[in-house]
Amino acid sequence: MCPKAIIVGGGIGGLSAAICLRLIGWQVRVLEQAPKISEVGAGVQISPNGVKVLEEMDVMPLLESSLFEPDAIEILMGVSGRKLLHLPMKDAAVHRWGARYIQIHRADLIAGLTARLAKLAPDTVQVGTQAASYTHHTHGVRVVLKDGTIEDADLAIGADGIHSTIRNQMLGPDAPHFTGNIAWRALVPAERLGKLAPPATGCIWVGCGKHAVTTRVRAGELVNFIGVVERSDWKKESWQTEGSKQDALTDFVGWDQRLLSVIQHAKTLHKWALFDRPPLPYWHEKHVVLLGDAAHPMLPSMAQGAVQSIEDAYMLAQCLKEAKDDGIPRAIANYFDERIKRVTKVQRVSAQNLRLFHKPSLPAQILSYAPVWLAGKLAPGLVQKQNDWLYGKVFEPLTTPKLNL
Ligand code: FAD
Repeated sequence: MCPKAIIVGGGIGGLSAAICLRLIGWQVRVLEQAPKISEVGAGVQISPNGVKVLEEMDVMPLLESSLFEPDAIEILMGVSGRKLLHLPMKDAAVHRWGARYIQIHRADLIAGLTARLAKLAPDTVQVGTQAASYTHHTHGVRVVLKDGTIEDADLAIGADGIHSTIRNQMLGPDAPHFTGNIAWRALVPAERLGKLAPPATGCIWVGCGKHAVTTRVRAGELVNFIGVVERSDWKKESWQTEGSKQDALTDFVGWDQRLLSVIQHAKTLHKWALFDRPPLPYWHEKHVVLLGDAAHPMLPSMAQGAVQSIEDAYMLAQCLKEAKDDGIPRAIANYFDERIKRVTKVQRVSAQNLRLFHKPSLPAQILSYAPVWLAGKLAPGLVQKQNDWLYGKVFEPLTTPKLNL
C-alpha cells in the first residue's frame, strides 16, 4: 500500500506538497480550515527557481493565460521617480537561470495548483476542517481535528502558515519580533490609471523609511501595489484588515504621481504588520514535518516566501522518494538539512533588503544607491550574478521518466 500524508493547510505550500507527493505515488489529504480554497486579492512574484518547480509539477500550462512576464526589474527613487537600476528580465531569466520570472494574482496561482491536484487525485482537499493537534503512534502520526475527529497517516505536514498550530505544538509558541513596518496592498485596473500607470516592469520604489513595489497581474490588466512603511502604531499580522485611503496617501505624501495615483484609484486598501522571526532549530519530529511560512516566515522584501514554500514541497518529495529502510523520520531530517541553509540565507537577505530600501537620509541613500546605479550601467551581468545562488538552483526531476499524469 502507498504511504499516506495529511497536509494541514491548503495554501500555496500545502497544495504544492500535495501535488509533489502524488507525483511520487503517495496518497494525500489536504485539510484546510477556510470554508473554501481561496486567496486574498493580491499579486505574487514567482522567480525562476519557483517557476522551474511549477514546470516540473506541470502547473505552468494552467497559469499561461493569467500570468504576466515583466520585461525588467527596476529600482526607482520614490520621490523623483528617477531610475536607479534597470535589469532586463524577460529573456535574460530564461537564458541565465533556466526559467521565466513571472507575476501572477494569488487566486490564479491557487486555481492552477488546485486544478493540477484535482487531475492527479480528485477530492483530496477537505475544506472547513481545522487541525488542532497531533500525537505520535508506533508507525506514524495521528492528527486530531478541532471537532475531535482523528485521522491517521504515515506523515503529517504542517503547511499551516505563519500562525501554525503544528509548529506551536512542535516547538512551542513562536516569538515574532515586530519590525516596525506595516505593508499596504491594493489592486487597481491599469486602464483606470491611464498615463499615470506605473511602468509594466517589476518596480521597487525606494525612499527614507519606506518603499513600494508595483507589479502587473491578470495578463497585465491589474496593477498590484505593496507599500511598506516604518510605523509602530499598528501591529496586526493579518492580510484581511482594511485601512483608510487617506492614511495610505499620507504615508506616501510627496512621492511620484504614478504611485500616488495607484493609491487614489484603489477601491480598497489592506494593511498587514510585518514581523520577523529567527530561524527555527528544527522543523521535524518523528512523522511530522513543517514547510513554507510555518517553518520559515520571511519578510516580503525578496519576494521569496511563496517561492520557498514551493521549493520546500518539491524537496520534501525528493527526500521521501529517496527514503531507504530508515524510512520517513530519516527522510524528513534529510529534507531539513537540505533546506535550512538556503532558507536562512533568504530570510537574512530579505531583512537586509528592507534596510537597503529604506535608507534614512540623502547621504545614506547616495552611499548605498550610487554603486547600484553604477553597476547597473557598467556591468548589469554582475548584478544578475548576485542572484545566481537563488534563481539558478537546479531541480532534479521527481519522476523519471516524467509520468504523464
Ligand atoms: P499560507 O499561504 O499562510 O497558507 C496556510 C494555510 O493553512 C491557510 O490557507 C490557512 O487557512 C490554513 N490553516 C492554518 N491553520 C490551519 C489549521 N489549524 N487547520 C487547517 N488549515 C489551517 N512570496 C513570494 O514568493 N513572492 C511575493 O511576491 C510575495 N509577496 C508578498 C507580499 C507581502 C506583503 C507579504 C506579507 C508576503 C509576500 N510573500 C511573497 C510571501 C507569501 O505570501 C507567503 O510566504 C506564502 O503565502 C506562504 O504560503 P504557505 O502555504 O506556507 O502559507
